[in-house]
This record gives sequence, C-alpha cells and structure tokens, in this order.
Amino acid sequence: MPSDRFSYSRLQLFDQCLAKYRFIYLDGRPAGGESIESYLGGRLHEALEWLYRERRTGRNILFDDLLNQYRSLWKEAWHGNIHIIRTGWQTDDYYQLGQRCLAGFYRRHAPFDEPVDGTERIISFTLDRDGLPGQGPPGQGLPGTPRGSGLPVAGTARVQGQDGCIMTAILDRLDQHGQGWWSIHDYKSGRKMLTPSQAEKDLQMKVYYLALVKTLENTERVDVVWHFLRHDREVVLEQVQWNPQRIVTMLEKRVEKIREREAQPRTLQPRESPLCNWCYYWDVCPAKAGQTRPARLAK
Ligand code: SF4
Repeated sequence: MPSDRFSYSRLQLFDQCLAKYRFIYLDGRPAGGESIESYLGGRLHEALEWLYRERRTGRNILFDDLLNQYRSLWKEAWHGNIHIIRTGWQTDDYYQLGQRCLAGFYRRHAPFDEPVDGTERIISFTLDRDGLPGQGPPGQGLPGTPRGSGLPVAGTARVQGQDGCIMTAILDRLDQHGQGWWSIHDYKSGRKMLTPSQAEKDLQMKVYYLALVKTLENTERVDVVWHFLRHDREVVLEQVQWNPQRIVTMLEKRVEKIREREAQPRTLQPRESPLCNWCYYWDVCPAKAGQTRPARLAK
C-alpha cells in the first residue's frame, strides 16, 4: 500500500536521509533519545502557546508569569534521555537561552493583542485541486473542518483525495484580521535564519498556505511570519502571491517520487551529513555501525 499521509516534516526528511526516513515512516521505529535543542524548541512552543491561550481569557501576562510557566514546562517534561552535542554547553546554557528567546519575544509583542484565531492548529486536507481558485467552490477540506469559522481541524479524518493522499499541517499560530485576511506564524528556535528570498521559496509555509486556501472560505490576503526566537528577528512576507495550483503540482511530484522509492525499500540508504549528530538511529544505521554518537547525557 502506498503511503497516503504526508506532512512537511516527512517531505523534508525524505530529502535529508532516506534511511532515517525508512526507520521513522516505514518501520515506525521510535527514536532512541532527544537532543536538547529539540527539547528546548518544544518548551518554547508550549510556553508561547500558553501565553496566547491565557491572554485570550483576558488575563494580563507579566514577563515573570511567562518565565514561571517556562520553568514548570521545562521541569515537567524533563526525561532521562536528552543529549547535548555542542562541546562547552551545559543544560543550564540551553535553559537560559530559552529565557532570552522569551524575553525578546515578550519585549517585541507585549501586550499580545494580536487577533489570534488559534495556536498549534492542525489542518488536514486532500492533495488535489478541489477548492482552489478556478476549480469549483472554495473550502474543500475534510469533513469536520468548519467552513468560514477559522477553526479547521480534522487531524484524524479518514476521507481521501483523488489520489488518496492527505497532507497535514500544524500551524504554530494563526491570526485572523477579518475580511479574509490571515497571518500564519511559525516559531523557530534553531540557529538558522532565512533571508527574505529564501523565505519566498520556503516549502513549509507553502504547505501551510495551501492548507488555508483549501479549507477556509475566504483567504483574500495571507501573510506569513517567521519568528526567529534565538535572534530576536522576524521575517514577514505580506500578501503572499503563491500559486496554489503550482504548490499542489509540486507536492504531487514529491509524493510520487517518495512512493516510487518506498516501493524499492533497498534504495532507502543512509546519507551522512552533519545532521547525523542529531540523529537517534545510529544503532540501526548501516553507515554508523559500531560508532558512538558524539553526545553526552544532559543532566
Ligand atoms: S545516522 Fe545519519 S546516515 Fe544514519 S540514519 Fe541517521 S541521519 Fe541517516
């Protein structure tokens, strides 16, 4: 059976390393640990989700409130299989880095009055041309996706598109400014920054954009915003002019290529790169047989 569920992460991993792709998506093998960068990113996302959730109840959030929440999230989620790769860095350095990320975000956005429609929003849609401009009525999301309410859901819906392929997008935050004007927000906690021209080509945001166009009644204007928390910088594309049909075509080609390779599992071979240091499949990776990851347990 060809795979029928895709996400940006899955497409990205296929480009990075085919062996790791196989371990995760075909074999369903759990990772043998977590990097502290991934752990930090998870807590920052949770802290910002909490911030906007609380703010929507009318509560005024002080910076100390946010820091306290971050502290409890960090403590509660801690487990014994988190690793540090960078030499000279300790657990507390990452914890403090997270505090600095939140301080920058707080300074920039307090009092958090953005018209937030939702956080960690899961949108699933069929990878076809239904609902795109010139292809019939808009908003052909999966059943359970409220039309025009700005509340697309359906992470577990089981209806399939023309080629049996469902894409899922998870938006860190979605703002609704009214009259079909939306902003998609993505929080980045890593070191990598995008230039505006790289942002214009970013596949992740194009998938998210397509998710909106496919599932909402009115997407007159869509802005996309990357929050580079570590750098206290933002990259904003206003009124994106992406062509949804082209995005669908591009995704269809990628899915087709993936399915072809999946049909020949022996061709899903390791592709070594610096990212191997953040990979938790060394024990089963043929390229790393007998080697030990250059990482230490975080305490
Ligand atoms: S260790 Fe490197 S080559 Fe091996 S599966 Fe992981 S990313 Fe791929």
